[in-house]
Amino acid sequence: MFDYSSPINTLSGIGPKVLEKLTKLKIKKVSDLLLHLPFRYEDFSNIKNIADLVVGEKATITAKILNIGQKRVWRRNMTITEALLEDETAPIMSVWFNQPYLTNTLKKGLWVNISGKISLGKRGLYFSNPAFEVLGEEPYDEEIPTSQTLRGARLHTAGLIAIYPETAGLTSRYLRLKIKAVLDNLIKIPDFLPSYISKEFNLIAIRQALQQIHFPKNQAEINNAQKRLAFQDIFLLQIYSRNEKEKIKSKLASSIPTNLPLIKKFITSLPFQLTNSQKLASWQILKDIEKITPMNRILVGDVGSGKTVVAAIAALNTANQKQQVAFLAPTEILASQHFKTLTNLFKGWPFKIGLLTASHKLKSGLDKIDIAVGTHALIQKNVKFKNLALVVVDEQHRFGVDQRASLLKDPKHSAVPHLLSMSATPIPRTLALTIYGDLDLSLLKELPKGRKKIITKSVSPSNRDKAYQFIENQIKLGHQAFVICPLIEESEAAIMSEVKNATAEYEKLSKNIFPHLKIGLLHGRLKAQEKEQIMLDFKNKKTNILVSTSVVEVGVDIPNATVMMIEGADRFGLSQLHQFRGRVGRAEHQSYCFLFTESYTKNTAERLRILVESEDGFKLAEKDLEIRGPGQFFGREQSGLPDLAMASLKDTGLIEEVQQAVNLFFEKDKIENNPLLSARLSEFKESIHWE
Ligand code: ADP
Ligand code: MG
Repeated sequence: MFDYSSPINTLSGIGPKVLEKLTKLKIKKVSDLLLHLPFRYEDFSNIKNIADLVVGEKATITAKILNIGQKRVWRRNMTITEALLEDETAPIMSVWFNQPYLTNTLKKGLWVNISGKISLGKRGLYFSNPAFEVLGEEPYDEEIPTSQTLRGARLHTAGLIAIYPETAGLTSRYLRLKIKAVLDNLIKIPDFLPSYISKEFNLIAIRQALQQIHFPKNQAEINNAQKRLAFQDIFLLQIYSRNEKEKIKSKLASSIPTNLPLIKKFITSLPFQLTNSQKLASWQILKDIEKITPMNRILVGDVGSGKTVVAAIAALNTANQKQQVAFLAPTEILASQHFKTLTNLFKGWPFKIGLLTASHKLKSGLDKIDIAVGTHALIQKNVKFKNLALVVVDEQHRFGVDQRASLLKDPKHSAVPHLLSMSATPIPRTLALTIYGDLDLSLLKELPKGRKKIITKSVSPSNRDKAYQFIENQIKLGHQAFVICPLIEESEAAIMSEVKNATAEYEKLSKNIFPHLKIGLLHGRLKAQEKEQIMLDFKNKKTNILVSTSVVEVGVDIPNATVMMIEGADRFGLSQLHQFRGRVGRAEHQSYCFLFTESYTKNTAERLRILVESEDGFKLAEKDLEIRGPGQFFGREQSGLPDLAMASLKDTGLIEEVQQAVNLFFEKDKIENNPLLSARLSEFKESIHWE
């Protein structure tokens, strides 16, 4: 016997080979199998005998493949796959266009379900590009099947068949059989959602949701089931954030009173006027650090929106109270960039600023430093502060209470430092609510006045040479250019081919196009130190052009670069393209962004047009969420969140409903009173890793 959390091989008929395949699909426990959700459904209703088929209708047959073959029509650059099928009543042809891999799956002698529209051709009736399901492939089908017995074994009642993420040798049909066996036998399915929540928000029970999502009778059942399952995951996510927030509220921090005259003096010393957003954000932060509960705030603003000076105002106020500030950046270059900026901003002020990176040690003891600038990793590892009161982190969104406390000399008895995290990735509000639910949000919505708009152009292949000529001219004027290579989907192999791609592009540019220029190459396979050196060479104008994969560092300032050329632009999200574009136009020079693509669909054109026309990062993020879904806002790393919940993060209505549910929960209930929820929460903390 098995239960919900048993290892998957406690199910009957799962030997080492199948186990290995299931593991590939991340199915390790019975629960993983139940939560291996279909990514689409096929309509196999209207089951007919071949002899009864009528032209124009949509129908499903169960038949044997008598013959299958493929031909190429070179003139039209097309492959055609043709199969002759037969059941007990008649034969029929089926034709597929441009699916050259079909013959790997569909083979002579196999039984299949074929579903699609019936057309009439010169040779009679035929299926054109039908959906199919292989029935007689798996070794566990011991009997010789007929269309009748196979139909009897079909696992659906009204025709919607779940199609799952598969792996070689493990078909959707197999998964369906196993899931059915589990649902038929499993007595208890734990439900961590409190019952009053399910009731209040009209959610179906967990067992029903699983039954319906795997074996739906109609679309409405699928919708209800998806809602229920997405709801519980987002509920968990929000409970987690709220819990973190409460935890932080229960800690003490040192209060930093706002010294207004001092801040005014600093602001007037700046060579520019603060934007309204900067003023508002600074004020929110100053009010936060006056409190005796630790600040937990994220400052989000486009590249170039001026986040550093906002953080500097908070640092100034803190250092002036003789309390320490830590300023953390993800890379060495960024750390030294921040160090320079802060040293400049605080010229003439009596603060000691120190830089602390792998290659740069502090000269004096940390005790003497007012503002320590360094890399995340280094400061976390080696350093204990005397009286750290404020931590500013660039491009790392979460920095937990424990992490903060660990920076203190005596983590047990001291106050927890205030946290200001900064991000250059504008994200839509609904997502921010959920992902940064534990953080208060400050937005820099406007760029400082007087910035030149970056001229963005979608370049057709026939104008490629002109674009190269343009780059050449910019370099003659003393400027520099980036060339970004196409993104390839996530996986180890993909990183390798990305590297190969970038290397090829680098070779092409340095040998054929710009043989007389100096070109640098940056990709994910280089060591951190090598990457830093390449970025430094570019910053110091030792190279004219930097060819890079999408790894090109966020936040690095290359004010001299004026051209951003992006290959395979259709493969990136709008937000990411916008981030790349933000790498240029960092100084007074007019800058340019050129988009190249090999996809000429209407969608691509439409998407790129949005980018050409808009320079509002938040607007682009909203669009992006609409078009591509939320996945891309979490970078290349998986978030640990199930796909369904992930996809539902763009459903504003659902997110707001869950928020009400969470409010209700904290009003009348406690996590400790719900052992199942509490257990899921601990698991969730382990699995989730977005930054
Ligand atoms: P980011 O938000 O990308 O970190 P930075 O803080 O690096 O942006 O600021 C980008 C540039 O804009 C810096 O050179 C900074 O001095 C300048 N800057 C910041 N605020 C203003 C402003 N209000 N007016 C003009 N320039 C500003
Ligand atoms: Mg910055």
